[in-house]
Amino acid sequence: MGLIGGMSWESSAEYYRLVNESVRAALGGQHNAKSLMATVDFAEIEALQRKGDWEASARILAEAAAALERGGADFIALCTNTMHVVAEAIEDAIEVPFVHLVDAVAESVKAAGSTRVGLLGTRFTMEMGFYADRMAMHGVEVLVPTAEEREAVHEIIYGELTLGKVREESREVYREVMAALAARGSEGIVFGCTEITLLVDASDSPVPVFDSTRIHTERLVELALRP
Ligand code: GLU
Repeated sequence: MGLIGGMSWESSAEYYRLVNESVRAALGGQHNAKSLMATVDFAEIEALQRKGDWEASARILAEAAAALERGGADFIALCTNTMHVVAEAIEDAIEVPFVHLVDAVAESVKAAGSTRVGLLGTRFTMEMGFYADRMAMHGVEVLVPTAEEREAVHEIIYGELTLGKVREESREVYREVMAALAARGSEGIVFGCTEITLLVDASDSPVPVFDSTRIHTERLVELALRP
């Protein structure tokens, strides 16, 4: 597998751990996943996000994908939810399959029998529509937190989690936002940011959680193990 990582490396480390753990669980012994990771500098990507320059970040990620393909990757994944906003540019730059995170999440939600979920992620993921639209293509409706809650969720990702900081006060904020989403009718909560799993888990939510990092890595491992 080819992984485009670094957004942030804190969550890419989680991807690396999860794919290797799963392959060891499946094959036993000293087996691990065969992988390549192209790590971009998140400071550059984050600055482009703030400027709204999605074309420039698309170029960086498309180049990373092409490099992974040249390196021999059979399929490629982007280890962040937010940057799936430029998924098409990445797909256009490669011949091998691109394993879209939102498709994997939507399939997992549907497999659990849910059709309406709350979404936690960056402001871009919660507000730009690329995520909700793709979920809707699969028949899954997305509810997002209120404007004030979205601000808090976003700030905790950029000001803490992508910098490796995990604070109990922020865990409490996420718990409250998840409880509010559940009260508004969410049958589950999507952790639509690859760092959220560093802060909260299923025990913090009143409804089932769909962790994009775990779901995406499970999909990658399934493909890697396919004969
Ligand atoms: N890793 C995060 C995500 O899954 C946020 C950082 C980024 O903007 O890529 O969306």
